[in-house]
Amino acid sequence: MRRGRSRVIEKRVAIVTGASRGIGRAIAERLAKDGRHVVLVARSADGLAATETAIKAVGGSCEVRPCDMADFTAVQALIEGVAETHGRLDILVNNAGITRDTLLLRMTDEQWDEVLNVNLRSIFVACRAAIRPMMRGKFGRIVNIGSVSGLSGNSGQANYAAAKAGLVGFTKTIAKEMGAKGITANVVAPGFIETDMTHVLGDAVKTAFLQNIPVRRLGKPEEIAAAVAYVSSDEAGFLTSQTIVVDGGMTS
Ligand code: NAP
Repeated sequence: MRRGRSRVIEKRVAIVTGASRGIGRAIAERLAKDGRHVVLVARSADGLAATETAIKAVGGSCEVRPCDMADFTAVQALIEGVAETHGRLDILVNNAGITRDTLLLRMTDEQWDEVLNVNLRSIFVACRAAIRPMMRGKFGRIVNIGSVSGLSGNSGQANYAAAKAGLVGFTKTIAKEMGAKGITANVVAPGFIETDMTHVLGDAVKTAFLQNIPVRRLGKPEEIAAAVAYVSSDEAGFLTSQTIVVDGGMTS
């Protein structure tokens, strides 16, 4: 897999972006528990250190690589650097995401660009860089974290919904281009999950949402991590080009 360089790491190597808190942290902890070497990515090194400590406390394997996903040159260097260091890249979970919510009437170009850059363009750059080492290893699992907003739309989220919807078509295209190379690509689309992203919403909004969730509760980050763990596993080689909705039945 790797020509004339140092030893290739034995464990499958997984990059998880947005791993400092919320869903990304749960995904990183779960993949480490499942025996992956996990590369933890976010802007804040301090936030990532907490995830690193939690993983290592239970004997997991991980490393911290801070990166701003809005810096596309840095994103490319991150992916290439991980593949170079470890001689392989098996799993890429594009989870980092932001919201800049406001009604379309008031949405600025900056709010549109910021969300599209972090939630869509950075993922294009990361996937483009990742498929080369994955092709060399004849194995790859790309998991892009979407959202039910990208499937149904959501008032106040024109930018976010557009980025998340764009991910679906992008991911299906990777699946078609890369299927014969052992690389799968899927979207996991969470519904309403208990994280910092949803803590900012008021109680009235949350109560209204609960009326539309058949299981009558918010989801837990670990429940998204469980879906990602399966989709990125060796045994999921026939599962590709799908959008797996984990939303307590909200959009069904
Ligand atoms: P969160 O709690 O706000 O955490 C976001 C993570 O992304 C943090 O680790 C943050 O770390 C990182 N991040 C943000 N901007 C970044 C950047 N420019 N470069 C690198 N890392 C960046 O979010 P969450 O609720 O866990 O959401 C995770 C994913 O699930 C997102 O893609 C979100 O759209 C999706 N999702 C969430 C929900 C929900 O209900 N929570 C529902 C549907 C979809 P730093 O700030 O340190 O960079």
